[in-house]
Amino acid sequence: NSFAESGLPKEVLECCQGFEKPSPIQSHSWPFLLNNRDFIGIAATGSGKTLAFGVPAIMHILQKRKNETSKRLNPLCLVLSPTRELAQQISDVLCAAGKPCGLQSLCVYGGTSKGPQISALKSGVDIVIGTPGRLKDLIEMGVCYLKEVSFVVLDEADRMLDMGFEPEVRSILSQTCYARQMVMFSATWPLSVHQLAQEFMDPNPVKV
Ligand code: AMP
Repeated sequence: NSFAESGLPKEVLECCQGFEKPSPIQSHSWPFLLNNRDFIGIAATGSGKTLAFGVPAIMHILQKRKNETSKRLNPLCLVLSPTRELAQQISDVLCAAGKPCGLQSLCVYGGTSKGPQISALKSGVDIVIGTPGRLKDLIEMGVCYLKEVSFVVLDEADRMLDMGFEPEVRSILSQTCYARQMVMFSATWPLSVHQLAQEFMDPNPVKV
């Protein structure tokens, strides 16, 4: 119920400066997510959900990188968002949150030229945030390699499926590391989202 209690490193908590305490979704999700559990959050925007998954995502990457000696090129964390606006918003938060820890984030979405996104991917990123269509394009072009992604977030999962992205989402998820930790946020819990969770998550995810 307090940032001090979380025991998180100072540089990871820099993004929370100015906040009095973790928001309810953060204090309910962090203990599970930091313990490598799959997690389903039914939460609306404005609840602080970006840092609910963002802080554990950063910790996940830092822990993986601890044992690495050479520079990593392929991302370890992927966040899927239904819209460009949400992707950009998440990216702004994760770029700022990851910076004190030396992490690179990249936002990819359609309607803009692929060139800068491809160059950034080639120079190496830790976190990719994107919309399903552009991500699938980049994967098919062979410039986005997701086999090392071991922390996956589906944000606004219900909206993503409502918008018809289910084939892309399934295809993208199947490209990620089999032993991944998965987080899903959704405002509602329709059968389609439930089925996706059953297929791609642990049999017993935490649901909050
Ligand atoms: P989100 O739901 O992630 O879009 O966050 C909504 C707003 O809540 C953003 O403006 C965040 O900066 C803010 N926020 C995130 N975490 C906290 C917190 N622990 N206390 C107060 N505000 C927060």
